[in-house]
Amino acid sequence: MNITEPWSIVFAVGFVLYAGTRHHFEQKLKGVESVERNLDGIEVTLLALVLSGNILAPVVYLFSPWFDRFDHPLPHLVGASGAVVMAGSLWLFFRSHLELDRQWSVTLEIRKDHRIVREGVYRRVRHPMYAAVFGIGIAQALLLSNWVAGPAALISFAPLYLVRVPREEALMVAHFGDDYRDYMLETGRLFPRFTKRRPTPSSPPPPA
Ligand code: SAH
Repeated sequence: MNITEPWSIVFAVGFVLYAGTRHHFEQKLKGVESVERNLDGIEVTLLALVLSGNILAPVVYLFSPWFDRFDHPLPHLVGASGAVVMAGSLWLFFRSHLELDRQWSVTLEIRKDHRIVREGVYRRVRHPMYAAVFGIGIAQALLLSNWVAGPAALISFAPLYLVRVPREEALMVAHFGDDYRDYMLETGRLFPRFTKRRPTPSSPPPPA
């Protein structure tokens, strides 16, 4: 039971804002039609893994003694860094939902009248929402003084990210073709890109 520790309280406040943001945008999307939805067993399994690292592990740590043997001391500087990372990541999480608007979905989907969002936090980064989730995972590791609950979100999100991103980019290329390919050249996946990459030829040049 660690919910009374100061850095755990900071984490819990951040967590409520995180879940509240998700819930708010989920409500806004009710009734928005999808024209394509890609959800298979791998995605469902990986999403369940994310829930266990993001929700189950912190809840067990905060409200039960089961993980107590894995507790470690938490220097104030580490906790304070966690609070800063949490605040920045929550801002990015909120902005990316706001700017993706009706294009957003928990699973891979193409909405009716879907368009490529290239503005705001999407101008230089293709996956700011996933960057924010990694950030919240880093904040969890810094704020929860426990070797299991701390890194659980980061460890559980990494496999979904690695499987999801190539699939998501392939889906976007299938629907938007060169417009999305061009957007890929202008942006980084998780970190901003400030110069445009040159396209790599997709097929070798014809023989002379
Ligand atoms: N990967 C993005 C979006 C996550 S939500 C991020 O991390 O910010 C997942 C959905 O967003 C996918 O189903 C895809 O259809 C849609 N999507 C991803 N990038 C998009 C973009 N730049 N414009 C419009 N829709 C996008």
